[in-house]
Amino acid sequence: MRGIDYKHLQELLQGARLVGATEAAIVAAKDIVVEDELAERCRLPRCENYGLSMSCPPHVGGPAAMRKQLEACEQALFFRIDVPSAMLYSSESREIFQLLHEIAAGIERAAVRLGFDQAKAFAGDSCKRIFCFDQPECQALAAPGKCRHPQSARPSMSGFGINVERLLQSVGWDIGIGDRSMSGESEKNTFVCGLVLLKHLQQNEQE
Ligand code: SF4
Repeated sequence: MRGIDYKHLQELLQGARLVGATEAAIVAAKDIVVEDELAERCRLPRCENYGLSMSCPPHVGGPAAMRKQLEACEQALFFRIDVPSAMLYSSESREIFQLLHEIAAGIERAAVRLGFDQAKAFAGDSCKRIFCFDQPECQALAAPGKCRHPQSARPSMSGFGINVERLLQSVGWDIGIGDRSMSGESEKNTFVCGLVLLKHLQQNEQE
């Protein structure tokens, strides 16, 4: 594997904050915990978006594919966006997750420009609900490679079994996922988060 380019990592962190992340941190790939049971929650109890898009189970590689990808990279960029709780649990939720996907995809592109040729971004929620809510079906399921929003839509971390609570702990952000509220705020805030694997070309493997 290549050595870690700290200057590029700092550029990515600054860039993530500039495009809207409240906080961003670099995590070691070995600290990203993947659990089969977490991915299984997409199926049981069945998420209403289960199977509706190319980016959700059972159409993604799941925990096994994620573990393989993590073996081939040394670090990732984890970020969060703080939002008022009232907004996340309102009709504006779709716009918040749209922003999350767009920021994740933007960081992925920046990472590619900086030499992480195989950077891969993961966000949250279903891209069917976020981007194709007014469409009868996912176009990529019918015609692979024909996603309507390839510049923005990214797979959800949950479908790959990524343990977000452990990620929050590993970067030292004192916000539990159980109560997604942040204490001490006059208006209650919550957050959404994303992850970008920082991989180089020679680290790519059969997925
Ligand atoms: S076509 Fe729509 S639902 Fe299908 S992968 Fe792309 S954004 Fe998601």
